[in-house]
Amino acid sequence: MSHSKGKLYVISGPSGTGKGTICAELLKDINNEFSVSMTTRAPREGEVHGREYYFVSREEFLENVEKGNFLEHATVFDNFYGTPKDMVIKRLERGRNVILDIDVQGGLNVKASMPDAVLIFILPPSLAELRKRLIGRNTESPEIVEKRLSKALNEIKFIGEYDYYIVNDDIETAVSKAKAILIAETCEVPDKVRPIIRKYEQEQEKGE
Ligand code: ADP
Ligand code: 5GP
Repeated sequence: MSHSKGKLYVISGPSGTGKGTICAELLKDINNEFSVSMTTRAPREGEVHGREYYFVSREEFLENVEKGNFLEHATVFDNFYGTPKDMVIKRLERGRNVILDIDVQGGLNVKASMPDAVLIFILPPSLAELRKRLIGRNTESPEIVEKRLSKALNEIKFIGEYDYYIVNDDIETAVSKAKAILIAETCEVPDKVRPIIRKYEQEQEKGE
């Protein structure tokens, strides 16, 4: 039973909950690759084009939508974000795990088009702690911080659609849990073996 294809992992959760921090730890394993999204958001200090995101104009983004280049795309906090399709498919075919850090709308769209995707939701220990982290990160204006916080509960309401959840209280524990999920997923019996078993069952039923 060989697993020739990699697995697709979606990491979602409210802004500031620790998705990026957890992803960075998972990406230390060379089998895991990050899917760099395209966005119309302005780069934050220290962000590099092609590493955190492909930073593009609205026109360029919409051209990519028209060409069908996205696996999914969504408007998040007034900006466009999209997952480039080809890159994800090629890496999975090469047997690499691909990690998407995308919002809940994106996660659900990915699950609909790629049902084997594994969806992981990262929760903050509390909304008060989420606020502290978003303010402490110091990457957004107070107005945008409030906008992001006001969306947190709406996102959390979708947790039932996800396969796993992790409360990111202590970062080391949260990272260990994320790694454990990735390991457990490699032990899953793939659905494609079921037709093979069925073939032998049918043979036995016929008494051959
Ligand atoms: P997201 O990618 O979900 O928006 P980040 O990974 O950027 O969130 O984390 C937001 C802020 O919270 C960062 O400054 C990060 O260092 C910090 N952080 C992440 N996890 C924890 C944790 N478990 N405890 C305290 N601070 C954390
Ligand atoms: P940020 O601006 O903080 O980098 O990201 C804002 C939100 O957009 C986060 O919830 C992040 O997961 C989400 N996001 C990033 N890239 C994509 C993407 O390609 N598609 C979707 N749907 N959401 C994304």
